[in-house]
Order: sequence, then structure tokens, then C-alpha cells
Amino acid sequence: MRDVIVYIEHVGGQPRRVSFEMSTKAKELATALGGKLHAVVLGTGASAAADAMKAYPFDLIHVSEDAEIDAFAVDPSVDYLEAAAKAVGPALVMVPYTMIGRDLGSRLAARLDCGQNADVTDIVIKDGKVGCVSPKLGGTIVTTCAFKGDYGVVAIRPNSFKAVPSAGAGEIAQLAKPAGKTYRVKIEEVVLEAAGELAVEEASTVVSGGRGVGGPEPFKTILKDLADSLGGSVGASRAAVDAGWIGHGHQVGQTGKSISPNLYFAVGISGAIQHKVGMRTSATIIAINKDGTVPIGEFADLLIVGDLFEIVPELTKQIRASAAVHA
Ligand SMILES: Cc1cc2nc3c(=O)[nH]c(=O)nc-3n(C[C@H](O)[C@H](O)[C@H](O)COP(=O)(O)OP(=O)(O)OC[C@H]3O[C@@H](n4cnc5c(N)ncnc54)[C@H](O)[C@@H]3O)c2cc1C
Repeated sequence: MRDVIVYIEHVGGQPRRVSFEMSTKAKELATALGGKLHAVVLGTGASAAADAMKAYPFDLIHVSEDAEIDAFAVDPSVDYLEAAAKAVGPALVMVPYTMIGRDLGSRLAARLDCGQNADVTDIVIKDGKVGCVSPKLGGTIVTTCAFKGDYGVVAIRPNSFKAVPSAGAGEIAQLAKPAGKTYRVKIEEVVLEAAGELAVEEASTVVSGGRGVGGPEPFKTILKDLADSLGGSVGASRAAVDAGWIGHGHQVGQTGKSISPNLYFAVGISGAIQHKVGMRTSATIIAINKDGTVPIGEFADLLIVGDLFEIVPELTKQIRASAAVHA
């Protein structure tokens, strides 16, 4: 195994930020292993996404806009990735640790009969072997795991690497359709989140609300206002999502998204371990809670004690006023 493949997740031709982050790290790995760097870009908009990826150091960018990729859930993408990995290598395959990447990565590892290291925040190479660094047990320990065999699938946590553009040969290769495949799970409808809304895993500032917020309205008003004032997105604890106050796509934590924004606000959130594992790597954590002894105070950089309905609007007002002065 010398070559490295990066699966490029994109939305309608726009690569997700994690795709750029993985590409930069993947080049370092391919160089250390003495192999080539490949991208696999699939589905509607793949050609546009491939063009965007030319700013990154890929030797080869494998593309398919086969309509079946978007018409059926996951399996066609697994087929294409499996074919690419077998043709190239077998190789180390990097997927994002996102909703799609988690699903894709584990199915691909089963197909390739190899291991998968998930929620990986760094990759090191020692004596030609890949070691995947991953926080476990709520971040209390950090493990470095190799693969039993020579290759494997690595699911990379978004925001783990800095994306640094640096163009490579970027040769485009059309992937052949895997032969003899039929699919059962047809996608009937795709429901997009509110247009223009930045996904929590892409945002550099996230304002999350929990049970303390008390209902759906504050997510659309005071939390959104604060997020908008900082160019960020609105997140949520599971308690808020389970109550139906905001969609699951906004959930941060063990059964939601893992994020590492520069600034994370936990508003009316107690800081349960399952929430903590999804946001603990945020650069700065500000908690707003009426309880001065709340667990999140133990790992937040700043705990503002008081009623969120007074503090959040005042904070937004001050941020807007300050922005106006510096405009
Ligand atoms: C298998 C499993 C997976 C899970 N996955 C997740 C996950 O992905 N994400 C997740 O978040 N949780 C997850 N949970 C749930 C988790 O254990 C907690 O139950 C949940 O995070 C609690 O949400 P919360 O902090 O919003 O609510 P609470 O713990 O009820 O905290 C509400 C907070 O709001 C404060 N508050 C109330 N009113 C105000 C006010 N007016 N002003 C200021 N503060 C106020 C309170 O002091 C309190 O601290 C999971 C649980 C399990 C078992």
C-alpha cells in the first residue's frame, strides 16, 4: 500500500471543507509512503467539485456523475470507491467522519476486508505503517491504532487539519460504471436544510442551545441572532433535538455531529459527556447557564452565570455595536 485515496464529499459540486482538509494531510501521507494521491468524486456536480479540487495536490482525480449515485442510498458510492481502491492499490482510503462518510467508510472497509479507524484526528507514519490517532472515552485518552493488514479506511474528524491549497497534476479520469449492480434503497426525496444556512460542522462559530432554551422559538430568534452576528451557525443538544425544537442535522455530540469551531457557545446546556464528545475540541468554549455549578463550567473557557434570555440578546447587541464601530 503506497497510494492514498481521498473521498471528496460535496454538495451539488461544492466540496465540503473537510474534503480540503483531508487533501492536505493526504498529500503528506502519500509523500511519506512514496505513493500517489488520488481523489474520488461522485454524483451530480462531481465534475465541478473535481475542478475545485485541482487547487489541491492530487495526481489523479477520479470522477463519475452516474445518475444512480444520487438516485440510490450509499451502495453505488461504495461500489465506485471499492473499484477505485482495488484498481489503485489496494490503498489507504480517507473518508470524512460525517453522516455520509461514517456510513460509506464502514461499508467500504467490509468490502475491502480491511479495518476502519474512525473519528481520527491525526495520522502518523512510523516504519512505513499508518498510525491513526483518535480520542476515546470522551477524550480522556488518546489512542494510536494501526491496521492489522497493510491498508485500511480512515474516517477523519472534520476540522482536524488545516487546508492548504497547493495544486498537483490534477489529471481527471472518468470512472467506469461497476458492472452487474442493482440497487434497492431508492432515495425518494431529499430535504434540504434552510437555504444559505451553514452546516454546524462547517462553521467557525457555533451557538448551541439546550433544554434550558425551553422551546423552538429561541433557536429561530435569539440564538440565530447571536450566530448571525458572528457569521456562525446554530447547533443543539440532543435534549433540544429530541423535543423537536430543531432538526437533527444541528445536533452536536455522540449521536450528532463532532465539531471543532473556533468559538462554541453552549446556551442552556448542562455539558453531559455525550454532548462534550462532540464539541470539546472547540478552540474556545463559552457556556451561558443559570447554574454556576453546572458540569460544563468544568471544561468551558468561560461560564457566564445568569438567565440566557437576558444574556444572549445583550451579547448580540454588544457584538453588533462593536462591529458597527469597527466597520
Ligand atoms: C447513547 C446516548 C447518546 C447521546 N447523544 C447525545 C448527543 O449526541 N448530544 C447531546 O447533546 N446529548 C446526547 N445525549 C444526551 C445527554 O446525556 C444529555 O441528556 C443531554 O445532552 C442534555 O441536554 P441539555 O444539556 O440540553 O439538557 P439538560 O441537561 O437538562 O441541561 C439544561 C441546562 O439548561 C440550564 N438552564 C435552564 N434554564 C436556563 C436559563 N433560563 N438560562 C440559562 N440556563 C438555563 C440548566 O441549568 C441546565 O444546566 C445522549 C445520551 C445517550 C444515553
